[in-house]
Amino acid sequence: MNTFNTSPGTVTLVGAGPGDPELLTLKAVKAIAAASLVLVDDLVNEAVLAHAHPKARIVHVGKRGGCASTPQAFIEKLMVIAAREGETVVRLKGGDPFVFGRGGEEVEHLTAEGISVKVVNGITSGLAAVTSLNVPLTHRDHAHGVVFVTGHAKPGDSGTDWAALAQCAHQAKLTLVIYMGIASAHAIETGLLQGLPAHTPLAVVQHASLPHQKHVSATLGQLCHTLTSHQLASPAIIVVGNVLQGLAQIGHSSEHASVVAAATLAKAA
Ligand code: SAH
Repeated sequence: MNTFNTSPGTVTLVGAGPGDPELLTLKAVKAIAAASLVLVDDLVNEAVLAHAHPKARIVHVGKRGGCASTPQAFIEKLMVIAAREGETVVRLKGGDPFVFGRGGEEVEHLTAEGISVKVVNGITSGLAAVTSLNVPLTHRDHAHGVVFVTGHAKPGDSGTDWAALAQCAHQAKLTLVIYMGIASAHAIETGLLQGLPAHTPLAVVQHASLPHQKHVSATLGQLCHTLTSHQLASPAIIVVGNVLQGLAQIGHSSEHASVVAAATLAKAA
C-alpha cells in the first residue's frame, strides 16, 4: 500500500542518501518530482535534482562550495512561509534527515507552526561507508550493536565522553560509526584509547558511495597518523570495531586496492 502523498502547503524532509544517486528511495524520487520548491542541503549530489519538475524552484542552502551557509532559523522560516503560500516544499538532506541532519529540530518547528510535515528516510552515510568496504555494522561474532556518534558537538555542549563510550563499546561489543570526526580526531583517538585497545581495527571512508571514494584501514592507535599520511578530509566517516578485523589484516586501502588491481592486470597481460 502506498500511503505517501505530498500536497501543496506541506513540507517533506527527504533523505538524499550518501551521494550515489542510485541509492535514493522510490519515495524520495516521488517526493522530489512532486515538489514546487526544493531546498537543497550540503552533500546532496546534484544528480538527484534531475528528478525535480522542470518548473520547480531549486534553492541551495548549504555552506560548502565557498558560499556562506544559510542560517538554520532562516531556512525554517522560509519553509513555513512557502508552505503557507501553498508551495509543495521538499527539503533535501544528505544521508538520512534524522541522523545528524537537524531534521528533528525542523519537524518540531514546522509542527509548532501548524505545518504538516513528513519525513522520507535516506541511506545514512555511516551505513553506506561501512557497506562500501563489504563490512557489516553488526556481526554475531564481532559486534552486538552499533553506535552512530558525532565528533562535532553543538557550540557550548561538552560533546562526547570518548573514554566512557570506548569502555562501553569494549564491554558490549559495539561498532562505533563516527560522523564529522576529522577535525577532532586527536581528542577521539586519545579518548577512545582509554577504553579500547590500540590495535582495535579502524577505517576511514571519505566520499562514501561516490566514484572518488577514498578509504583506508588502520588501527585505533594510528587514527591521526593515518589521516595525515593519506590526506583524508571531510566528508568522512571513521569506523572503529572488530567487524573490520579482516580488513585490518590485509591493510586495505583504496590505493592498495588499485595497486593490487594494476599488478594483477600486468600479470594477465
Ligand atoms: N544526515 C547525514 C549526516 C550529516 S552530518 C547522513 O545521514 O549521512 C555530515 C557528516 O556526514 C560529514 O561530516 C561526514 O562525517 C558524513 N558524511 C556525509 N556524506 C558522506 C559521504 N558521502 N562519505 C563519508 N561521510 C559522509
